[in-house]
Amino acid sequence: MLSLDHVSAGYGDVRAISDVTLHVEAGETVALLGANGAGKSTILRAISGLAKVASGSIRFEGSDLGAIAPSRRAFLGIAHVPEGRRVFRELTVTENLDLGATALKPQFSKAEQQDLVFSLFPRLRERRSQLAGTLSGGEQQMLAIGRALMMKPRLVLLDEPSLGLAPLVLKQIFQAVEKLREVGLTVVLSEQRIGEALSCCNRGVVIAQGKTIFSGSSAELLKDETINRAYFGSRQATEGAHS
Ligand code: ATP
Repeated sequence: MLSLDHVSAGYGDVRAISDVTLHVEAGETVALLGANGAGKSTILRAISGLAKVASGSIRFEGSDLGAIAPSRRAFLGIAHVPEGRRVFRELTVTENLDLGATALKPQFSKAEQQDLVFSLFPRLRERRSQLAGTLSGGEQQMLAIGRALMMKPRLVLLDEPSLGLAPLVLKQIFQAVEKLREVGLTVVLSEQRIGEALSCCNRGVVIAQGKTIFSGSSAELLKDETINRAYFGSRQATEGAHS
């Protein structure tokens, strides 16, 4: 469904990722793992068009994304939920969701997408008339994901959804990622919380200094002590997976 072949990308003269090759099948949930600044967000931004691709190619369902303007990529079915849950604070939950539906094709029903969002996040249904700025951090993250789902995407790029959230809320967010998989969406997730990410993803790809270092099934990655010690510290790697 999604193929990155030897992609180098960055910002101006800054090369943030080099020679990244990544293939994602339809229905897969793939975690991009790595430390701060490793290049995880840049991979997501290169796919949605927010980072400039200097070389290599990115294909989505057979289309060469290099030939498609970033603003058109949402219409292909690619939704990007950026780091830092940028919701419209002065608008209500429902109004935020409505804005997400602007990229929904006319043959699909907004009400159906909203029902899906509310079934994934019942808390948003309860707070549908509340201003987004008054929601908790976790609820804002749910809203940011929900808004992306309103366009009925086939691929969801989720950039560090756990950032700054309390442990109880984290659990809900990772459960939501699992639910996205259950409803058949393809997800690429950038995360520093290795254990939790691997417990809700099929596969992990370790990124360090802008390059892919290792790719394997979640089970393989959790078992691989060398990778665990070198890139995560083995305790952190396994903690979330068993909780
Ligand atoms: P984090 O978890 O902190 O978001 P990351 O793995 O997602 O880390 P990136 O945000 O992709 O990493 O950053 C990769 C490199 O690109 C870093 O060296 C970073 O400083 C640089 N970078 C990121 N955004 C920009 C930007 N807008 N302009 C210039 N350099 C940037």
